[in-house]
Amino acid sequence: MVYTQFIDGALTTGSNRETWINYNPAYNTPLEEVCQANEEDIEAAVHSSAKAFRIWRAKTGAERGRVLTKAAHILRSRLEKIALLETQDVGKPISESLAVDVSSAADALEYFGGIAASIHGEYVDLKNAFGYTRPEPLGICAGIGAWNYPIQIAAWKAAPALACGNSMIFKPSELTPVTALELAKAFMEAGAPPGLFNVVQGDGRVGAMLVNHPSIAKISLTGSVSTGKKIFAGAASQLKKVTLELGGKSPLIIFEDADIHNAVSAAMLANFYTQGEVCSNGTRVFVHRQIFNSFLTQLKERTEKIRLGEPADPDTQMGALISKAHMEKITRFINSGKSSGATLLTGGFQPEKDFKGRDISSGNFLAPAIFTDCDDSMEICKEEIFGPVLSVLSFDSEEEVIERANNTPYGLSAGVFTNDIKRGHRVIHQLQAGTCWINNYNITPIELPFGGFKQSGQGRENSLAAIQYYTQLKSVYVELGNVESPY
Ligand code: NDP
Repeated sequence: MVYTQFIDGALTTGSNRETWINYNPAYNTPLEEVCQANEEDIEAAVHSSAKAFRIWRAKTGAERGRVLTKAAHILRSRLEKIALLETQDVGKPISESLAVDVSSAADALEYFGGIAASIHGEYVDLKNAFGYTRPEPLGICAGIGAWNYPIQIAAWKAAPALACGNSMIFKPSELTPVTALELAKAFMEAGAPPGLFNVVQGDGRVGAMLVNHPSIAKISLTGSVSTGKKIFAGAASQLKKVTLELGGKSPLIIFEDADIHNAVSAAMLANFYTQGEVCSNGTRVFVHRQIFNSFLTQLKERTEKIRLGEPADPDTQMGALISKAHMEKITRFINSGKSSGATLLTGGFQPEKDFKGRDISSGNFLAPAIFTDCDDSMEICKEEIFGPVLSVLSFDSEEEVIERANNTPYGLSAGVFTNDIKRGHRVIHQLQAGTCWINNYNITPIELPFGGFKQSGQGRENSLAAIQYYTQLKSVYVELGNVESPY
């Protein structure tokens, strides 16, 4: 099958002859051939998005909201089909795609569909005059996605953008080109004008074309810090608006009074969900020295029970990494950890068989790894690995752990486990991170803003906070008296 662009309401191979093969990470077998968009395709997408924008911005918020809500229902009605596509494309367990990926995309459409009619400005009384503000759409917005949560990322960007009256051109990662097209189809069937949500396929060259295009008003990226810097610099030449959701090396701090079972559950969720390919992961797990050994014993025991294997099996708990190249990169980090003196407590190898004895040697599978005897200065404790590699570090005092947790250029997330409510808040308030949890980890409800401090990003996704990143505020002064003039 040839996978294509979705431009002006229809699938099209576009005008380029260049294609690439997209692989299923569980077997490294080809899934489909994908057409790389060229400049002509981008022009077609921009032209169609501009046309859709004129129609869409003239609609009322309630009308826009109805389309988003209907698209959410369409996604939910196709939950199993889209979840399977996502699992084949990303390698994540079907239990996750069913429970999280598609539902979280639908949640975003429902949430922003629900508030579209309530996006409004303010009235300001000025005695003999008054003023009011209008949050106006920006125009054509471009979304550029990472490969770990393809449909969720597409929907987290499209939902607020469209609710605010913009149109969007979305470029999925070249490694996961499939499910953004399902979202595009859902919008069309829900009554969106053709071109409201276009999908262009390709690698970073296509992303760069979107960043540089003078008719595109805003770029929203989910990706790595290095790509974020390139996009920020590219957008600066035209002073485009930018939202950046980037990587991290987040701390998860577990105090001596924490419920250890819950803390171990959270540490596993924070490192092994989606094979550890999650931006907000708490990969530096700081554990108070008093409970260090019992924490580590439970963590090792439960990690070794994770059911790794065939992603489409509903019993599977951990699937395949996105690509061979990514698996090799993670393996290099594991070797770096070992050679720098950390102890690999478990995992870190490529298993031949899965938990039901099936041969998985051709896929990108890696047993979840735990490092202990770690030091903050080790590469594995400083760099984002983006795989199932957890480093456990011990600490003695609150002040010490806060300082160590903040000693990173990143600031996406942080977690604290304690039963002392005052300490929980006190510590979280001192952590330099945009998305924090007390006594849980990696829960991202659509109602709460999501985004990073420091080099982990710019702007916020989700919640009411996202509205300001997809609108521009116009102030209008209305005179009720005479013009006072010195002339
Ligand atoms: P990349 O930064 O490699 O790619 C992200 C997207 O940017 C891809 O679509 C990519 O295209 C595109 N791109 C690459 N170069 C350019 C360029 N010069 N101009 C415009 N676009 C470009 O990230 P990954 O896809 O490897 O995803 C992993 C990273 O994403 C991790 O660092 C992770 O932390 C982060 N992430 C952040 C999240 C957040 O919300 N904060 C959530 C999920 C992931 P292509 O790859 O097709 O070449």
